[in-house]
Amino acid sequence: MKVEKKKKIIKSIKIDVDKCNGCRACEVICSSFHAEPKYSSSNPARSRIRVIREPYTDIYIPVYAGEYTPAECAGRDKYVIDGKEYEECAFCRASCPSRPEFKEPDSGLPLKCDMCEGEDEPLCVKWCLADALVYEEREEEVEEEAEQEELEIGLESMANKYGLQKILDTVARMSKKD
Ligand code: SF4
Ligand code: SF4
Repeated sequence: MKVEKKKKIIKSIKIDVDKCNGCRACEVICSSFHAEPKYSSSNPARSRIRVIREPYTDIYIPVYAGEYTPAECAGRDKYVIDGKEYEECAFCRASCPSRPEFKEPDSGLPLKCDMCEGEDEPLCVKWCLADALVYEEREEEVEEEAEQEELEIGLESMANKYGLQKILDTVARMSKKD
């Protein structure tokens, strides 16, 4: 299979937990941006960024949602940084069965940060007046399997032309013939 080098933009949010004051403005704007219709409601439980808060120990950790995992991991990590002990799982970005974060409250479906697709900068970063969130972009060279990409482009154009359901029906019909 042909492997090609490609340029890819890696997007990330640098989080400074010492600057976060737990105001939760990031949760408000994220859930509101992703509401249907957009900005029609705001519910932090629907936010793709959650702030782990322990005010008594002055711990505020904004975490934005990463991958879905169907099973919780067997190990747990404890971090002690500058004398503060952080809860197990506090820095984990997974939508995981072990905790309520990063699940759509009505459907239970996992939530994942999409970097506010379509916006020039993530809205949680814009709304964080404490500058605890800093958006960063860098370009990296990655190896991509060209054939896989060609296949995906081909499938996408067929789906646009005939509709995804028709393609799925055709594949199902073809596999029955074998
Ligand atoms: S908006 Fe900024 S300061 Fe407020 S909770 Fe979110 S990350 Fe922390
Ligand atoms: S980048 Fe956008 S989608 Fe991701 S956590 Fe921030 S507001 Fe939510």
